Amino acid sequence: FNVPKPQNEPVLNYGPGSAERAQLQAALSEARSYVADIPMYIGAEEVRTGKTGEVRPPHDHQHLLANFHEGDKTHVTAAIDAALAAKEDWENLAWEQRASIFLRAAELISGPYRAKINAATMLGQSKNAYQAEIDSACEFIDFLRFNVHYMTEIYQQQPPISPKGVWNRVEQRPLEGFVFALTPFNFTAIAGNLPTSAAMMGNVVVWKPAYTQIYAANIIMQVLREAGLPPGVINLIYVDGPLAGDVIFSHPDFAGIHFTGSTGVFQNIWKTIGTNIHQYKTYPRIVGETGGKDFVVAHPSANADVVSTALVRGAFEYQGQKCSAASRAYIPASLWPAVKENMQRDIASFNMGPVEDFSNFINAVITEASFDKLAKYIDAAKADSNVEVIAGGGYDKSKGWFVEPTVLKVNDPYYVTMCEELFGPVLTVYVYEDDKFEEILDIVDKTSIYALTGSIIAQDRYAVAIATNKLRNAAGNFYINDKPTGAVVGQQPFGGARGSGTNDKAGSMINLLRWVSPRTIKETF
Ligand code: GLU
Repeated sequence: FNVPKPQNEPVLNYGPGSAERAQLQAALSEARSYVADIPMYIGAEEVRTGKTGEVRPPHDHQHLLANFHEGDKTHVTAAIDAALAAKEDWENLAWEQRASIFLRAAELISGPYRAKINAATMLGQSKNAYQAEIDSACEFIDFLRFNVHYMTEIYQQQPPISPKGVWNRVEQRPLEGFVFALTPFNFTAIAGNLPTSAAMMGNVVVWKPAYTQIYAANIIMQVLREAGLPPGVINLIYVDGPLAGDVIFSHPDFAGIHFTGSTGVFQNIWKTIGTNIHQYKTYPRIVGETGGKDFVVAHPSANADVVSTALVRGAFEYQGQKCSAASRAYIPASLWPAVKENMQRDIASFNMGPVEDFSNFINAVITEASFDKLAKYIDAAKADSNVEVIAGGGYDKSKGWFVEPTVLKVNDPYYVTMCEELFGPVLTVYVYEDDKFEEILDIVDKTSIYALTGSIIAQDRYAVAIATNKLRNAAGNFYINDKPTGAVVGQQPFGGARGSGTNDKAGSMINLLRWVSPRTIKETF
């Protein structure tokens, strides 16, 4: 059995007049033409509780897109029971057959479901067509195909050596129990990857998405069912976090968590698991990707256009709501006038508005809470005489949660927005004296409480080498002469350490190995 090494799914460009644009526009209109009714999926059942929550596009909060059926503790228990009931058949299914289900899911997204899942991501999470395409189509397809490829490598590893009269072997068994997948709003691909990567390795999963991503999560579940995923292998529930946590983290069969979300939530989960450790049959696997406060450092030898493009794309694509987004920049004084002018020019050229108009580069931030938090930081910056607003600074929530791409210049490298994660379209710049490059690197490292992504931009190879060395623990994904966002599956395995997570690299063999509990067998003849 052999799965060919995959190629990355080509990114469609949705240019005016293209067939893909027409299909996507049709899918957007269709999705807006009715109010969807979204069930939970527990075992073979679609569960409708009648207690519903609403889904509204963040860029158009007057429009009701869907109602979803919310569950309580009993549904969490039912989802765990359904998972455990499905476990034996699923783990005994030949891994080639498991693989084929996920490859089929990738084909469905690449073809018949592409417009639908992209439209859902655009409407539910306020991503423009390009951002949706690279996420819910390409990255999700890549996760599925590359993970299947890594999975085949794991199952086909060379066995250990066996002396005469002995046969040694290692079985890559799934974990004993169920895995809990807790997924974020900002990437449909991550929402799909966290449950499927564990399931691929023979595990059964209870999946709880962020409430702000349920609309696209529902499409993922439909795709997986159509691809032939047996009922109960992945159970999708919408239950308030603490309620779900109470049931999951006190269950004896809890075997692992695959998490992407905030640092605070992850740390609380870790503590709860620690407190309850004696209740479990096995030590649970804890795999999490959390926050980021990602840096771009320019050296005086850098090209100003490369710097400003890295900043503008890195900070403002998807409204800065990527864990990887550039949110703090260190620019040498000699480059600053050109970088500033470029950024002001680019930002002035951006259109901001709903995703249905494809000319809008900037769309809304995810929720009112996020809008209010950003507005608060922006207001504090505006009121501070030590902060200069270089671009943006405006916000408007009359129709949607719109925050302008904002650049702040500060004269203190420890200023609050240089250190705290804002998760929105706000970039803070500190301008340093050209001869203080190495001192700046020390400050960057010291303020890297998180260590997810970061960029060094320089033409001088010596500067690149110094930065690569001094910042070796400050970013799990380190970029040289590029923006710090947009890791591609199969090319840049993604994840960070320090406050950013357990660095188990999404879309890699390292990650899949967290979902197995190997058994070594020695047989003597
Ligand atoms: N993998 C994404 C990137 O490289 C970021 C994922 C995240 O925001 O969690 O931009």
